[in-house]
Amino acid sequence: MNFGWTADTSALHKRRMLQSLALATLMTVAAPGDAGGISGVDVQDDHVVVRFSGRVDGASAFLLDAPRRIALDIDGAQIAGRNFAPAGNAITAVRQGQLNGGTARVVLDLTSPATIGNPRIADDGKSLSFSVQSVTDGRFRSEVGKGRTHFDAPANMAPRPTKRIHSITVPIPAVARGISLPAVEGSHDGARPLVVIDAGHGGHDPGAINRDNGEREKDVTLAIAQAIRDQLVKSGRVRVALTRDDDKFLVLQERYGIARRLGADLFISIHADAAENADAHGATVYTLSETASDREAARLAARENKADIINGVNMGGQSGDVSSILIDLTQRESLNISASFARLLQREAAPYVPFRTAYHRFASLMVLKAPDTPSILFETGYISNAADAAFLASREGQQKIARGVARAIDVHFARKLAMAGGAAGG
Ligand code: ZN
Repeated sequence: MNFGWTADTSALHKRRMLQSLALATLMTVAAPGDAGGISGVDVQDDHVVVRFSGRVDGASAFLLDAPRRIALDIDGAQIAGRNFAPAGNAITAVRQGQLNGGTARVVLDLTSPATIGNPRIADDGKSLSFSVQSVTDGRFRSEVGKGRTHFDAPANMAPRPTKRIHSITVPIPAVARGISLPAVEGSHDGARPLVVIDAGHGGHDPGAINRDNGEREKDVTLAIAQAIRDQLVKSGRVRVALTRDDDKFLVLQERYGIARRLGADLFISIHADAAENADAHGATVYTLSETASDREAARLAARENKADIINGVNMGGQSGDVSSILIDLTQRESLNISASFARLLQREAAPYVPFRTAYHRFASLMVLKAPDTPSILFETGYISNAADAAFLASREGQQKIARGVARAIDVHFARKLAMAGGAAGG
């Protein structure tokens, strides 16, 4: 079977999309085999060479925006057990993940808009190379929309017998069924409200990164989520669970899936923002809307929703697909409660946490999609801002955020109780 290079690229593309979706849940350890293990990723200025221990079958690349990245999918390759550090200025980080038994993905974070030039695989099939060519912002965005670039294979490369992995299509929302539910902590009274705290990003997905000190969003979100959990456990007034209590990756649907399956009364996803402008600072609370409140909110939604792509859950490649979340009328009440909690959070946490002036924004964020769980996404500050990053990474800052969130949660459920007819307790 002629696989890949010159043949029907649209069929290949379709097959890949299917595989990306189907295998999103199966991204585990690389299967053993005779495939070429990645032995090196050399980035010298604008020239990238990826070397393998054995011959690979083929490769393609595509661009991602917000943040700007080059993703390489290499057939017949296995990820390496070690990390690679880029040299030069064009690329800031190199990450790798096994898309499935036969395909490795390498993601290169770009410093500035660039495209791929001269993509080729060496004659022996044991390395591939390309150049990173600077382009304008506009050109980059149009290239992102163009889809994959296929690497030219050497003429003498005979397609080796391909052991295609059978594709089993698993609808993405079903992912949540496969994961075990986290422990519920805090009050032992099952009648108490349950709050699920979600530490954004994790595992292969670092989230936003501070360019100067390397502070990663996934680390601060986890520390903040844990601080909030501890604060709520101490208060004893609610029950609390974390979607993740360590450095692991969850797709966005798993995150709200956990909240729904536990029957959470409130879902809070913790994040840290990033902006080109290093002066941007302060916290923002996001609630779900099918239309973004402004361009910035739309950009943020595109970025946060793309968290899944890093691990191969390509929701169709266009942010538009992910963003067009239809909101059913039955969600109205959840949305109203979410919006009221957003305002409360700012009021109660403002003494401890600096907020932006426009502190409540709306965006079509995938992680807030649970129709029956009031949900907010709390961008606790800008990891790209020096002062905010220091605050977010400090124990003191994390505890201040936790205190503010816990106060808002207390008032929120006390109000609810009062509205429900003033039942005893509180
Ligand atoms: Zn985030």
